[in-house]
Amino acid sequence: MPADAPPSATRHRPAVAAPRIRQVVLKMHSRCNLACDYCYVYRHADQDWRSRPRIMAPGTVRRVADRLAAHLARHGTDRVRVVLHGGEPLLAGVAVLDRTVRTLRAALPTGVTLDVVMQTNGLLLDEAALDLCHTHGIDVGVSVDGDRTANDRHRRHADGRGSYAEVARALRLLARPEHRARYAGLLCTVDLANDPIAVYEGLREFDPPRLDLLLPHGNWSAPPPGRRPDDPGTPYADWLIAVFDRWYDERPRRTGIRLFESLIALLLGGRSGTQALGGTEPDVMTIETDGTIEGTDTLKTTTAAAMRTGFDVFRHSFDDALRHPSLAGRPAGMAALASACRACPVVGVCGGGLYAHRFRDGDGFAHPSVYCADLFRLIRHVQERVTADLAALRDRSMPAVRP
Ligand code: SF4
Repeated sequence: MPADAPPSATRHRPAVAAPRIRQVVLKMHSRCNLACDYCYVYRHADQDWRSRPRIMAPGTVRRVADRLAAHLARHGTDRVRVVLHGGEPLLAGVAVLDRTVRTLRAALPTGVTLDVVMQTNGLLLDEAALDLCHTHGIDVGVSVDGDRTANDRHRRHADGRGSYAEVARALRLLARPEHRARYAGLLCTVDLANDPIAVYEGLREFDPPRLDLLLPHGNWSAPPPGRRPDDPGTPYADWLIAVFDRWYDERPRRTGIRLFESLIALLLGGRSGTQALGGTEPDVMTIETDGTIEGTDTLKTTTAAAMRTGFDVFRHSFDDALRHPSLAGRPAGMAALASACRACPVVGVCGGGLYAHRFRDGDGFAHPSVYCADLFRLIRHVQERVTADLAALRDRSMPAVRP
């Protein structure tokens, strides 16, 4: 769950201007105990996971910690986020995760705040795992696709069994008052076959502080399900708008939805909290279990080569790796966008969508998103709703102020 760290006083004088890393995704375990059929790790172009160690070894974690510490000190950064990821990170075991966070904390310069998040499918989330999370302040994000029907459409075991009952058990545990402080939120992948309101209600049943709706991965050469690139229809916008209207009209609003909150923030001149909107700078680095350094994980859905940097934590610093085109070496902001995006009236909000969704085989990333028509319609709809509310607020008569 990418998020920019708020600026605060730093004890380190920046010696070097940006780019810099704000978030490191650590692949603690290269395998998973589910076999979801849409998974970008196991079902897409990059199959390098097959040859990697299952668990990140202690020596690799130490090198990551040293490289990260050097990078933060060099750039005067006083806050960084580490995501314990996989595969399924809890397959690594509580002891390995405990040692990993201790190693990271011990290596970081004094005054640096380390935010740790774990993204899990929840199947192994039990009291022991939550004890670990309380000990280290690890926030837990759980992947679940809605109600039982929606979740079990894709999120299944290798033998075909659905995972809903197991993830529901984990989420009831996480939502208990004694654990709720560690509850970061839910990640849900959109499927047009699922009813949007049933999905939203199913997610809300778990009382998440926040959730996010992810568009399924796809690009111009491998279009997402139900989305033909040359079709002017907007099935994903229609689906998302149904959820947006339900959520936006709720009083009181019981949860946050990162995609919609980012969209509204961007419309009002603020910042995006998601890589899916706003043309955010590439500030995420992924470290595989063997110490290989890669860019953002979503590039796995394009070509195997898009992810490979040739860098690893044993031979290269994070600043070396940052120069690679899959990391900060790639164009960012308006310079990265297709001419159609640069001329688009909603570019300030859309930003061309998620970088991986712009890919076309043999022709790179200088294209609008494969979700262009959906993004345009969604943004216009939200803009109309927010504009109408602001106009109503402006016209509402204010109570008289006493002299
Ligand atoms: S709506 Fe389409 S053209 Fe406009 S910025 Fe987004 S991807 Fe580009």
